[in-house]
Amino acid sequence: MDGFSAEEIFTKENGFAYNDFIILPGYIDFAPDDVLLESSLTRNIRIKNPMISSPMDTVTESKMAIALALQGGLGIVHYNNTIEEQAAEVRKVKRFENGFINDPIVLAPGNTLADIDAIKEKYGFSGIPITENGKLNSLLVGIVTNRDVDFETDRSKKLVDVMTTDLVTAKKGISLNQANQILKNSKKGKLPIVDDKGRLIALMSRKDLLKNREYPLASKDPDKQLMVGAALSTRDESMDRLAALVDAGVDVVVVDAAQGNSIYEVDMIKYIKKKYPEIEVVGGNVVTEEQCEILIKAGADALRIGMGPGSICTTQTTMAVGRAQATAVYRTARYARKHSIPVIADGGISTIGHIAKALSLGASVVMMGSMFAGTNEAPGEYFYENGVRLKKYRGMASQEALDAGGAKRYFAEDSKIKVVQGVSGAVLDKGSMFEYVPYLVQGLKHSLQDMGARDITTMHERLYSGKLRFELRSPSAQLEGGVHDMYSYKEPKYM
Ligand code: GDP
Ligand code: GDP
Ligand code: 5GP
Repeated sequence: MDGFSAEEIFTKENGFAYNDFIILPGYIDFAPDDVLLESSLTRNIRIKNPMISSPMDTVTESKMAIALALQGGLGIVHYNNTIEEQAAEVRKVKRFENGFINDPIVLAPGNTLADIDAIKEKYGFSGIPITENGKLNSLLVGIVTNRDVDFETDRSKKLVDVMTTDLVTAKKGISLNQANQILKNSKKGKLPIVDDKGRLIALMSRKDLLKNREYPLASKDPDKQLMVGAALSTRDESMDRLAALVDAGVDVVVVDAAQGNSIYEVDMIKYIKKKYPEIEVVGGNVVTEEQCEILIKAGADALRIGMGPGSICTTQTTMAVGRAQATAVYRTARYARKHSIPVIADGGISTIGHIAKALSLGASVVMMGSMFAGTNEAPGEYFYENGVRLKKYRGMASQEALDAGGAKRYFAEDSKIKVVQGVSGAVLDKGSMFEYVPYLVQGLKHSLQDMGARDITTMHERLYSGKLRFELRSPSAQLEGGVHDMYSYKEPKYM
C-alpha cells in the first residue's frame, strides 16, 4: 500500500506535531452531509460534535458552554473563580433548556411586579406561576407572563391584580411527548403541571420546543437540559467545589493538572468516582502510555492529552518535559482504546485540519482554547490594537492568570516562587460561535469525506487496521502545503 500506517510513523524516535504529517486521500462514495461526527466524550457520554472548549478564564463560562452544547459540543467551565461563581455558571447552562422544569421560580399573589422584574434581570425569563404560598407543591392560582406586565407602569402593583387565572394545565404523570402536544395545541407560552389536588409540581415552556427544533444536535441529559463540564484542581478545596458543582447539575468533571500522573490526581479521581459514581471524570493531562495506565486504573472515564502544545504555553521550553502532540495523541489513544476509554486531544489546534488530524490519530474529541477565545461567547470585552479588533486570551499559568488566582493547575501546594508556564496576549475577533462552529463542522465533514471515512468510528477502525495512510512532510513540503509565492493575499476569515 502507498503511504505508511500511523503505527509505522508514530512509534519511531521522533515526536511529531500535527504539521509534520499529512493524511493520504481515500475513496469518496458519499456526500459531506452524509458524514456523522458523533463521538465519545467519556465512557458514558456521546456527543454529536466532537468539539469542546478549554477550562480557561478567557474561554469558557456559561455563554460559551451553552453555545457549544446547543451545537452538539460541550464547554468545560473554568475554576479561576470562587466556588459559588463556578457553580452559578454551571447552573445557568443547566437552566437554559428544559423538558419539564422541575424547580421553576414561583411567586405568591402578594408579590409585586418589581419581583418579576428582579427575576427577569437575574434569570432572563419572566413567565412565573403563582401559587398560594409562593412555592412549588402549593395550590396553583395563576400565572404571570410578560404580556401581563409589560405595559404596567406601577411596579408596586400586586401580582394578584394582573395574573391570568384561566389556565391550561396538564396532570402529573403525563409524558413529555404528550405535554409537548398540549403546549403546541394550546398556543400558550407555558404549561403548568399540577397534581390531582391542583398543586403545582412542574412547568413547561414553549420556548424549549423551539430550542429543540432549532438545535437538533444539542448535547442534552435525559431531562433535556444541556450538558456541561467543569474543571477543578487536585487541591483540597476541590472537595467543596465538587459538591457545589454536583449540586448545580454538572455532568462531567475535568481534573485539571498540567502533569496528571500524580498521587494527588489519583486520589482525587478515586474520591470523585466513589462519592459521585454518576459523574463522569476526565483525568489528565497525560501524554504517555504509562501515565494513561495509572489514571485509567484510578477510574478516569476519559483522558485529556497534551503537555506543552498549547498556543499560550511555555511548559516545554521551561520544564523540558512534555511531548509533541500528534505522537502523544496517537500513543495514548491506541493504549486507552484497549480499555475503551476515549481520549481528548487538548491544545495546539489552530485549524480545521488540526482537528481532523487529531481525530485521525485516535482522539475521540478535541479541546480548543485559542480557536474559541476570540468569539462573542468567550468571556471578556473586545478591544482594538492598531485598528484590529481583538479579545484577550491567556494561559492559566501565565503571570496574569496566576495573579488572579489561577495557579491551582500547576502547583499542588503553595510555593513562594511560582514559575510561569504560559503567556497572556490577544487573539483576533472571530464573531459568533453560532456562525463559527457550523463552519468548523462543515469543514471537518469535508475532511472526513476526503479521507473516505463516513464517521469517526470508521476512521478509527481504518487507523488501527493500517488502512488509513499517512506520510511525513519535509520542511519544504510543509511550506508547499501552505499559501506561498503570492505577492499579497487576504487570509480567509476562518481556517
Ligand atoms: P427527539 O425527538 O430526537 O428529540 O427525541 P428525544 O427522545 O430526545 O425527545 C423525546 C421528546 O422530547 C420529543 O417529543 C422531543 O420533541 C421532546 N424534547 C426534546 N428536547 C426537548 C426540550 O428541550 N424540551 C421539551 N419540552 N421537549 C423536548
Ligand atoms: P419567559 O416567557 O420570559 O418566561 O421566557 P421563555 O418562556 O421565552 O423562555 C424561558 C426559558 O428559560 C426556557 O428555555 C425555560 O426552560 C428556561 N427556564 C429555566 N428555568 C425556568 C423557570 O424557572 N421559569 C421559566 N419561566 N423558565 C425557565
Ligand atoms: P490552545 O487550544 O490555545 O492551543 O491550547 C489550550 C490548552 O492549553 C488548554 O486546554 C490547556 O490544556 C493548556 N493551557 C492553558 N493554559 C496554559 C498555560 O498557562 N500553560 C500551559 N502549559 N498550558 C496551558
